[in-house]
Amino acid sequence: MNQKMRRGILSVVSGFSGAGKGTLMQALLEKYDNYALSVSATTRAPRPGERNGTEYFFKTKEEFEKMISEDAFIEYACYVDHYYGTPRAYVEEQLNAGRDVILEIEVQGALEVKRKFPDTLLLFVTPPGADELERRLKGRGTETGEVIRSRMARAAEEAKYMADYDYIVVNDELEECVDHLHRLIQLQHGASAHQKDFIQRIQTELKEREEYRQ
Ligand code: 5GP
Repeated sequence: MNQKMRRGILSVVSGFSGAGKGTLMQALLEKYDNYALSVSATTRAPRPGERNGTEYFFKTKEEFEKMISEDAFIEYACYVDHYYGTPRAYVEEQLNAGRDVILEIEVQGALEVKRKFPDTLLLFVTPPGADELERRLKGRGTETGEVIRSRMARAAEEAKYMADYDYIVVNDELEECVDHLHRLIQLQHGASAHQKDFIQRIQTELKEREEYRQ
């Protein structure tokens, strides 16, 4: 099958705050060229340096709720008192164009996407251990003790869902981790859950070969 004609893989990348997902996604997109990173909508305020349409589409609560009523999201979740959601149109368009789409979203949204689209690949990125996570959170140097405590507590909550993911990806060495993610996503192209149309076609073709009927 022509590489460009096949539908793309939908992958979700989740992980603890401080696991290095952002850097990882950036490195993956720079190194390999068939990926599209979905830009979410959110009602939280932009942080310094964030631009509308790049990190997020920044929406008011009313705008976001209107989009919910128009079924414009694949999934949405409320996280720390703000809405976050994945706009449907871009994801569908990119998958149909054969690109592998990545959603960087939290666990509730990830599980919702998997329920709706069972051939989604769920990837959970984590540092090698809790000590390293704490070290990375402190190393940012911008967070207060209170923020670090609440992120570590949230990580413990999120860790309860790790077993629901298809793969756990340890982010120890950046380059290795990027290649590992790439290999996992590319392997998913052959997964039977992603090959339903192909399976159906070959089953029909075989059925039509009457001369071989028993
Ligand atoms: P932040 O406010 O730090 O940018 O993101 C907070 C959390 O929301 C992160 O875990 C991030 O992955 C998640 N998130 C970002 N966009 C979406 C989305 O569209 N849907 C869901 N469910 N979570 C999202």
